[in-house]
Amino acid sequence: MDGSDGASVDGEDEGSGQASPDAGAADTVADASPLAGLFAPERVAVVGATEREGSVGRAVTANLQRSFDGDVVPVNPSAEAVLGLSAVDSVAEADADLAVVIVPPAAAVEVVEQAGEAGTDDVVVITAGFGEGGPEGVARERELVAVADEYDLNLVGPNCLGIISTPVGLNATFAPRNALPGDISFMSQSGAFVTAVLDWAAERDLGFREVVSLGNKAVLDESDFVAHWGADEGTDVVLGYLEGIDDGAGFIETAREVTAETPVVLVKSGRTEAGAHAAASHTGAIAGSEAAYEAGLDQAGVLRAESVQELFDSAAALAGQPVPESDGVAVVTNAGGPGVMATDAVGDSGLELASFTDATHEALSERLPDNANVYNPVDVIGDAPVERIADTMDIVLDDPNVGACVVITCPTATLSFDDFGDAVVAANESGVPLAACLMGGADAANANRRLAKAGVPTYFDPARAVRSLDALRRYREVREREYAAPTEFDVDRGHVRERLAEAARNDETRLGVEAMDLLDAYGIPTPAGEVVDSPSEAERVARDIVGDTADGTDDEAGVVMKLVSPDILHKSDIGGVKVGVPPDDVADAFEDLVSRARRYQPDATVLGVQVQELLDTEDGVETIVGTNRDPQFGPLVLFGLGGVFVEVLEDTTVRVAPVAEPEARRMLDDIDSAPLLRGARGREPVDEDAIVETIGRLSQLVTDFPAILELDVNPLVVTPEGATAVDIRLTIDPDEVAGIDPEAAGEAADGDQHRTTTDTADTTETDR
Ligand code: ADP
Ligand code: MG
Repeated sequence: MDGSDGASVDGEDEGSGQASPDAGAADTVADASPLAGLFAPERVAVVGATEREGSVGRAVTANLQRSFDGDVVPVNPSAEAVLGLSAVDSVAEADADLAVVIVPPAAAVEVVEQAGEAGTDDVVVITAGFGEGGPEGVARERELVAVADEYDLNLVGPNCLGIISTPVGLNATFAPRNALPGDISFMSQSGAFVTAVLDWAAERDLGFREVVSLGNKAVLDESDFVAHWGADEGTDVVLGYLEGIDDGAGFIETAREVTAETPVVLVKSGRTEAGAHAAASHTGAIAGSEAAYEAGLDQAGVLRAESVQELFDSAAALAGQPVPESDGVAVVTNAGGPGVMATDAVGDSGLELASFTDATHEALSERLPDNANVYNPVDVIGDAPVERIADTMDIVLDDPNVGACVVITCPTATLSFDDFGDAVVAANESGVPLAACLMGGADAANANRRLAKAGVPTYFDPARAVRSLDALRRYREVREREYAAPTEFDVDRGHVRERLAEAARNDETRLGVEAMDLLDAYGIPTPAGEVVDSPSEAERVARDIVGDTADGTDDEAGVVMKLVSPDILHKSDIGGVKVGVPPDDVADAFEDLVSRARRYQPDATVLGVQVQELLDTEDGVETIVGTNRDPQFGPLVLFGLGGVFVEVLEDTTVRVAPVAEPEARRMLDDIDSAPLLRGARGREPVDEDAIVETIGRLSQLVTDFPAILELDVNPLVVTPEGATAVDIRLTIDPDEVAGIDPEAAGEAADGDQHRTTTDTADTTETDR
């Protein structure tokens, strides 16, 4: 990576110098990835090449001329030559395998068509003026996609900066600076960000293998490039900056396979959605589209970086270091304060401070002066020469409890950063992942470069060093993750189909406890209950329930009574839920509930009162299982601490459906209140299997029925004996209901409840 300074202007020697050995590697990849050719062309046409100063056409031509190992063919009907390269009149005459298109938007589609006709399969459309602006542009983009489909083109853009492929010296961009060669491949939805990153990376000797500015993603999108780099042996780490993912489910499927072998780290902008907390609903408010990204990227095994700095910090660690075999971190420092900073950062991460073996303590005691600290974090004291630090690293790296190590030095009279760099490079042979902090500026620059070259990430800030090691741990978890096909439960789809159709016929879009039978149909336990419309009926049902459940001790047992109204979202807010009503009081309670509805919400439609079996919630936990839909990721499932305070507690976690069993189990681990489920304060642990099963069954329900827009079971009362849904609320889309294919959703209508899975096999029986 010498001569990096010249990379932007006259870096041709680097490009060509690096190319020959790697170009062969690119050939082998050609079999594996359909995009291999895009990054390894031999002849590139620049359509719209020009010498006009300051133009994109000139910049792209000049960049290619400087860097590219193969032939560059300017296409310009009104020029004999461009920048000394002899030009042709049309892309058809260029005989190129890659066409870079810079012509004005009105001409671009035709050019792409000509390229397709001429057999040029790979096209980068830099030209803007497509879907990003105005109806005319949208129509033009549609034409472009149609042409790309017709000729089966690999098309990047439009409206992008271009692509870079360092193994063949291809800089088909108008960025002022080329990339240095490296093992990281990078995609960005922002072209400007690519130029910024190239400039920033050059200063740090950070190299890239392939770089793509995604532009409008009209044809090739993030999933295509993730798949390509997963198949590309030369790519060690995939990085990306994304503003959105169009096909969330498809991305999860693709990325899941890739991340099992190759780490993918993404920054997704637009995290905060301050306004997303609409007051009205449960899951709708909690699971915004940001939650969908969070869940989807996690399920895809993608490491999400919170900032650009974290993106590249993670990349440096992932590209240079192995994953830690265990979570214990050793901290070695020549200064107390930074050691504490590192220790704090370990506490904030998923790592832990390693506890050394006795042998390590003894060895350190022998080696270090009396006033040194031989416990983790190890303080070798400010007077330490490099040898002392080197020996200390050797000792701790040999400890079986040490999974990773951060070594920190502040400048002292006894220590040269350059010698220290050599010592760390030597220690890097141990196979235990390392990160170094050289807490200096100009004096550390040399050593930092040397370490970066050896694959040891270096930082000024100890917290960043720890976080980058934590990225390695996170990636280890991704690799170890077990994916399973979602369980297919035996359910009564026909009943749900009928019930939804009935609701749609009656113009009901919001359903409440009167729809508990939907849960019954999907095998989710519910308490006995019935909706009634008169006090006498209420009393009859109450006596039935109490007689059934109270073993004759009528007087003490009671029932629960709930207002049934599509217009009342939170029944208990207006006193619409009465818990523990004795049968003798049920008739009065009925009148009271109805009059409450009249008083607090006079315009509400009251369908009646539900009389429900009273559950013993003493040793139970109220949880919520909810679902809604995301435009990009499809159905989502939420789990968390439930009850009437769910919005206040906000202790929930989200997954993209279908949720398979291992994923559902991870949801239970995710919430802060997990200890509550696991027997906090001497309570008996609840039935976790029952929660996992309920999550799976509800996931199946919303996957089966896109007509269900949103559905909450809150609370799902979970006890040591099982899980019972006592409340439901859902919103349906009548248009979707009309579209339910009776063939697809209704075998049970023919009396066969068991043939429920065949027609969903396509969507659920994936290898996720
Ligand atoms: P809403 O959410 O509309 O206020 P719910 O039906 O969820 O109405 O009831 C509110 C609360 O009442 C529940 O969180 C739970 O604590 C209690 N509750 C409801 N139904 C039962 C039941 N069958 N057994 C025991 N407690 C119940
Ligand atoms: Mg409720």
